[in-house]
Amino acid sequence: MAADPVSVLQKLWGYPDFRGVQRQVVDRVLGGQSTLAVMPTGAGKSLTYQLPATMLDGTAIVVSPLIALMHDQLRAAEAVGIRAATLTSVDENKAETRGRFLDGELDLLYIAPERASTSDFRDLLERGRVALFAIDEAHCVSEWGHDFRPDYRLLRPLLDRFPGVPRLALTATADEHTRADILDQLGIPHDGMIVAGFDRPNIRYSISPKDNTTRQIADLIRDTPGAGIVYVQSRAGTEKMADTLRTATGRPVRAYHAGLDPEVRRRNQADFVASEDMVICATVAFGMGIDKPDVRFVAHAGLPKSIEAYYQETGRAGRDGDPAVAHLFWGAEDFARARQRIGEVEPARQPGERQRLNALGALAETAGCRRRILLAHFGETPPEACGNCDNCLSPPAAVDATETARKYLSAVFRTGQSFGATYIEEVLTGKSSERSLMNGHEALSVWNIVDGEEVAMLKPVGRALLLRDGLRTNPHGGLEFGPAARGLIKGEDTLKLVIPPKRERRRRGDQAA
Ligand code: ADP
Ligand code: ZN
Repeated sequence: MAADPVSVLQKLWGYPDFRGVQRQVVDRVLGGQSTLAVMPTGAGKSLTYQLPATMLDGTAIVVSPLIALMHDQLRAAEAVGIRAATLTSVDENKAETRGRFLDGELDLLYIAPERASTSDFRDLLERGRVALFAIDEAHCVSEWGHDFRPDYRLLRPLLDRFPGVPRLALTATADEHTRADILDQLGIPHDGMIVAGFDRPNIRYSISPKDNTTRQIADLIRDTPGAGIVYVQSRAGTEKMADTLRTATGRPVRAYHAGLDPEVRRRNQADFVASEDMVICATVAFGMGIDKPDVRFVAHAGLPKSIEAYYQETGRAGRDGDPAVAHLFWGAEDFARARQRIGEVEPARQPGERQRLNALGALAETAGCRRRILLAHFGETPPEACGNCDNCLSPPAAVDATETARKYLSAVFRTGQSFGATYIEEVLTGKSSERSLMNGHEALSVWNIVDGEEVAMLKPVGRALLLRDGLRTNPHGGLEFGPAARGLIKGEDTLKLVIPPKRERRRRGDQAA
């Protein structure tokens, strides 16, 4: 093992140097020390076991949860000349692979966790030479994690059979509880954890309320040359969005979701990876295991599941380090729907889910630095301002909207908590209609009590009330009080609103609607 890791890196991968904590992790592994590497997606986790695998005597056993991912990794490893193989249920050359392992002709052997518990596999390992156990997506071993896989619990007995072999667990998970649990579950010393910086300084984060989302995204696409991903909530939505954006922007736009014909899906993905200007409208399933460093923007046409999911999904932009854009468009109805769904999960999980959603709400609503909130969420202490997010670049004004919020809530209450936002606005601004006449609402004290500049506040106030659970929507779209209404009505709470700086609306963009 005389070679120097940097020269191996340069020779095999052609990269000039290690990035971030890669070197630290590689040094520990080469020194035989068990390690948990917490590195965000795109930080280059694979290299931290692939490179030692080529230098150490014996084979690195890599545990990975998805067979499709494994085969991608296998191709990537073979492409740089690493001797690698997979041993999974779908492989037809298992006997040959076993032979290569026993003959010491493999640097890397990828397996699924369920194989780890079989006595056949254990026997095989004992007859050959194991240099390292790498456990990818190691948060799957923890019930605290967002993706617990019982199969991962089968690993420990196998690892313990090889006490001299170092373990390298890899994850992008942020949550401290989960990290500690991974260390315990896999028998890695607590001082063996290396956490990479989560900051992606080249990504510019922007978050805006929806205001004709398709038009907003078409504008973004026109402003942003290069390939991009648009995340859409539903399968049908991806296709509809793709059709509209294709017409509106003239760019190649494709859809991607799990319901597509596998051949079409495969082709869309391959074409996207090869393209320099394609836009792909996809469900969140898209992006996992895709190696495309030059994605220039990621847009969200709806709310991600959590801050972690948002970080993960936006992290697919700008992996090459060049400037990239992440723009999230959110609507009050996204929050209302998310809250409704939380009400449907088992009671024990509800507080955690609610916390996750509130954290996302705080990110969407802040007048401060977006990056600061993101990084603080991952346990870092970032500076006040990053200079590369929408709020840092053009600070929004904050106004006290408590009075308007009270009027809004009163109107909801007086009309019987059953009408939607449009009607509530009509009542508050005194816009007479057949409906308002018939309901006798023109006689209410809240009729026509908002005018002038305050009218423009109604929509953002309605949105903010929904986001904070001051209002909820019933199954028919009617607004009713949520738990946060009381404090506002009683004058105990205030509502500060962030007014984003006005962007000129472009004629060109309007046709995308
Ligand atoms: P992760 O598994 O952490 O999401 P990957 O291992 O897929 O990340 O690596 C992300 C990208 O970064 C890949 O394209 C990889 O080739 C590239 N990469 C990794 N290490 C380096 C490095 N030291 N210099 C340049 N590029 C690198
Ligand atoms: Zn900022």
